[in-house]
Amino acid sequence: MNRKKALLTELYDIVDRPIRLMVVCGTQNRAILQYRIREQLPAYLDLVAGPGCSVCVMPAGHIDAFIKVAVQRDVITAACDDLIKVPGSRESLESVMHDGACVEMIISPMDALDIAQREPDKIVVYPAVGFEATAPGVAETILEAASRGIENFCVIPAIRLLPPTIDLLMHDPDLNIRGLLCSDHINTISDAHAYASLAIKHNISCYIGGFEPEDILEGLVYLVRQIRTGEFISDDTSAFVYSSAEKQEARKIVSQVFFAVDTLWRGLGNIEQSGFVIRDELSLYDATKRFNIRFSEGQEQCLCQCSDIISGRSLPPDCPAFGMACTPQSPIGPCMISDEGICSSYFKYNLDSRSYLLGYTAS
Ligand code: SF4
Repeated sequence: MNRKKALLTELYDIVDRPIRLMVVCGTQNRAILQYRIREQLPAYLDLVAGPGCSVCVMPAGHIDAFIKVAVQRDVITAACDDLIKVPGSRESLESVMHDGACVEMIISPMDALDIAQREPDKIVVYPAVGFEATAPGVAETILEAASRGIENFCVIPAIRLLPPTIDLLMHDPDLNIRGLLCSDHINTISDAHAYASLAIKHNISCYIGGFEPEDILEGLVYLVRQIRTGEFISDDTSAFVYSSAEKQEARKIVSQVFFAVDTLWRGLGNIEQSGFVIRDELSLYDATKRFNIRFSEGQEQCLCQCSDIISGRSLPPDCPAFGMACTPQSPIGPCMISDEGICSSYFKYNLDSRSYLLGYTAS
């Protein structure tokens, strides 16, 4: 019997009661849909999505702030493709770009620094979205700008930290989450200990693993076994991915540049110590100070249920707009825009719901 089949067989043997698990990471959610794992699981095993899509958790007010800076004279906004399309209260970076604002699509923060060097008469602004794993790269870029004396580069810090938000969600008894499936990505700076503490505090199971179907199934088996035995210990399989020396170095760089503060999340409000701001010593590289930015919640699109979806309260087909008013070609909310967004993954890979909604069958 191959590994995947053996894991599925074990799941069918051990899932003997309703169990709800949260798949925190957008990439793992996408893999579950892409490899059709969800359809193969025992009926009692209920998977909900978590807040692990960095673009999806950005409040409309943050997008409004990015836009306010982007439309200023002599500013180049350098941002990732997904972020450009996300709507704020009224506009997106993409729409203001069509109206003449200078917005360039980049892949990494170092690309933004290269633009700053190439365009000395402009100020290059990088809206830094992402989770813990993104922080070392952004911090490194800021330190690199400082060491090379590049002063026309700055960052809007919008990085989010997952553990405080998961902690908040686990306090909600209605969610009834019994375990967390997390990805290796989280291990760059926050490491498995933060998740082990969450598991113990909330009496839930927790597993950190990879993105292949076998990795995911192994994680689900591990979680269900933990729930059955009541031994809630986070499993740090990714110790092989990041050595502790690398983690220590990443943490050192991050703490040189950032510190944690209470931060707004889309639909979840202001969460204690869940985001980073730039230290005063590096304020030259802090766009919030250079442009006097204040973040507000903004106005979400009224049809959109992304807030419920990223907090495990509903799934994309529960949204009346899914596949009708909202598709990847004409998206309403960030969960349909981002590649990591659960609505876009559902639309792309879950042909059952798509054919039901659009009246066609998969060939
Ligand atoms: S389907 Fe579209 S409108 Fe509905 S929650 Fe997802 S992104 Fe928002």
